[in-house]
Amino acid sequence: MKSVKFKTLYLKKRFPLKISRGIFSGSENLFVLISDGKNVGLGEMCPGATEGAESAKVGQKHLEDFLREGDGLSGSILDTYLKAVDFGIAPCAIAALDMALWDLRAKEANMTLFRLFGLSLPKVSTSITIGIMSPVEVQERVRHLKEKGMLENLKIKLGSPEGIDHDKEMFSAISETLQNSSTKLRVDANGGWSVEDAHKMLIWLQERNVEYVEQPLAWGEEENLRFLFKGRPLPLFVDESCRNSKDIPELSEYVDGINLKLMKCGGLTEAIRMVGVSRAHNLKTMVGCMGESSVSISAGAAIGSLFDYIDLDSHLNIDPNPTSGALLVNGIVTPQDVPGHGGSLKDA
Ligand SMILES: [Mg+2]
Repeated sequence: MKSVKFKTLYLKKRFPLKISRGIFSGSENLFVLISDGKNVGLGEMCPGATEGAESAKVGQKHLEDFLREGDGLSGSILDTYLKAVDFGIAPCAIAALDMALWDLRAKEANMTLFRLFGLSLPKVSTSITIGIMSPVEVQERVRHLKEKGMLENLKIKLGSPEGIDHDKEMFSAISETLQNSSTKLRVDANGGWSVEDAHKMLIWLQERNVEYVEQPLAWGEEENLRFLFKGRPLPLFVDESCRNSKDIPELSEYVDGINLKLMKCGGLTEAIRMVGVSRAHNLKTMVGCMGESSVSISAGAAIGSLFDYIDLDSHLNIDPNPTSGALLVNGIVTPQDVPGHGGSLKDA
């Protein structure tokens, strides 16, 4: 018989993150601990209104109701996932439950989670996110990342509420600071552009050697992606527009790839399915994150070898970080060689 405990921790960001929709300085995340009497599996939920639970408290309520009424933990992990979806609980809360169950299963098997899934260690280095800021601030941030040796791949947040002139100024300030470095540049507009602005920016960014553009248009405006997709100068990825595997077949007609997140899709079980569906539709894949600690990031890293691009950097911007887990090794978010996903709470 398994028992479940909850713990809530506030994760403060060292540098607040500004994107097209607003500014984030930290979040109260929910941790789920599932014990079989011998091992404890650990999961994490980062709340988000678009992920179905706007707070840790709401997420915990969803899970408690499910566990009380839904006979949730009997059967396989896939059974639990499917029952939780049917029960209608928030995807980010399902993600925490699913992550804790996989962690527990790997610990019971005395295996790292990536080996339990039959996977290898990830080999792709992570993007480091740069939020919307002034040209002066962004130059300071890039110098800071340079000192830390974290300039392999930058994901630059554009779609500024101040318009594409601000986007261009910020992007140019970054290019100027990087000079001739081999840093790969990716752009995420978080849905902050109109179709016209997106069209202009795609051409402008292609001339500046950007690799791809993510979520150029707002979630809900997928029909307009068709116009951008035809003759696109750069590969187009969607993030907010792609919640789970059901969204993929239609999106595949007008995007080149998807950015999936454990919090959006409902955890590892669904994430693996999304990779399969994406490949069947010839899409590129990326794994991203919300404001997650080293716990959820370690779960993401456990399936990291499945992805073309990796964007698992939120834990690097938490200070103080009450969690530990996957380590940054030569720019690659690498799971530790311990049973489970390797993420843990420092005081547990
Ligand atoms: Mg994104």
